[in-house]
Amino acid sequence: MSKEKQHAAQVAARNFIINNLPAYDSHTHIHDPEFQADYHSVIARAHAANIKQMLLPCDDLQSCKRTLSFHASLSAQEKKLVRYALGYHPHAAEDYCLNNGYAELVKLAGEFSLVARTSSDNSADRFVSDSGKPILAAVGEIGLDYYYDNSPRALQKRAFYEQLAWAAELKLPLSIHTREAFSDTLDILQSAFKNNLLLSSPGVIHCYSGSKEFAKRLLEMGFYLGFDGPITFKNARVAPEVIEYCPLSRILIETDAPYLTPEPFRGERNEPANVKLVLQKIAEIKNVAPEEAARVIYDNAVRLFGIN
Ligand SMILES: [Zn+2]
Ligand SMILES: [Zn+2]
Repeated sequence: MSKEKQHAAQVAARNFIINNLPAYDSHTHIHDPEFQADYHSVIARAHAANIKQMLLPCDDLQSCKRTLSFHASLSAQEKKLVRYALGYHPHAAEDYCLNNGYAELVKLAGEFSLVARTSSDNSADRFVSDSGKPILAAVGEIGLDYYYDNSPRALQKRAFYEQLAWAAELKLPLSIHTREAFSDTLDILQSAFKNNLLLSSPGVIHCYSGSKEFAKRLLEMGFYLGFDGPITFKNARVAPEVIEYCPLSRILIETDAPYLTPEPFRGERNEPANVKLVLQKIAEIKNVAPEEAARVIYDNAVRLFGIN
C-alpha cells in the first residue's frame, strides 16, 4: 500500500470509529500562521469529525491581536465553532512585563463578548450576549515554563500572577501552561487561592505532564487536566497512571495544534479533528466505552468554557 493510501485508510478508520462522538478541542492554535493557508479546510474537517467547539488560546500580543482578523474572516457557520482565550504564554512574559501587557489585554478584551457568570462558581448559568463579537471564554495560555526559560523566571511569575488576577476580575477560567515548574506553579496557585482569585472551577492545566502527586493537589483545587497527542506515543511522557488516577469528570482533551500530533499521524501538522485519537486513547486507558468517555469529557469542557 502506498503511503498516501495507507494514510487515507488510517483517516477512514479514525472517522469510522469515533466520528459520531461529539468532542470539544479545548486547546488549539488554528489562528496561528501554520494554518494561514488552509484554516477553512481545517475547520471543515473538524466540523465533519463532529468537533462541536474549539477553544483558541493565545501566546503573545501578536496572536491575541490576530484573533480579531481571524474571527472576522470566518463564515457565520465557522464562527459558531470557535471561542477564544487571551493571554501571554510564559515565553512572552518578558514582553508582557516590559511593554505593559496587562493594558494591552484589557484593551483587546473590549473587542470580545465576555462569557459571563451570574455567580462566581456556577458554570451552568453562564450566558453570552449575542453582539456578534468573538467570544472570550478563558484567559490563557498563561503559566510557567522552566524547560525553555525563554523569559526570566521572576517575570514569568509576575506575568502569570497578574493575568490570573485579571481572569478573576472577569470571572473567566484559566488555561494554564506549566512545564518543569510544578512546585512554583503550585505556590502561585495556592497564593491565588488564599487571595480569593480562583473560581471553584478555576480552569485547566493544559497538556498535563506532571506527576500523580501534583495532579492530586490540582484536582483538590478544582482544576481539570488536559491531555494531548503524546499520550498516544509508545513512550508516553504522561504516565497512563495519571489518567487512570484522574476522574473522567476532570479530564479534558485537546490537540494543541499545530503541535503534539497523536499517533498514527505523529510528525505531521496536528489539527482539531485529531482530538478524537486522544479521546480514544483515554477511553482505552480508563477502560470505558468511547461513547461514555466522549460524553463525560465533552460535558466537562462545556461546563468549563461553555458552548456557542
Ligand atoms: Zn502550552
Ligand atoms: Zn498551546
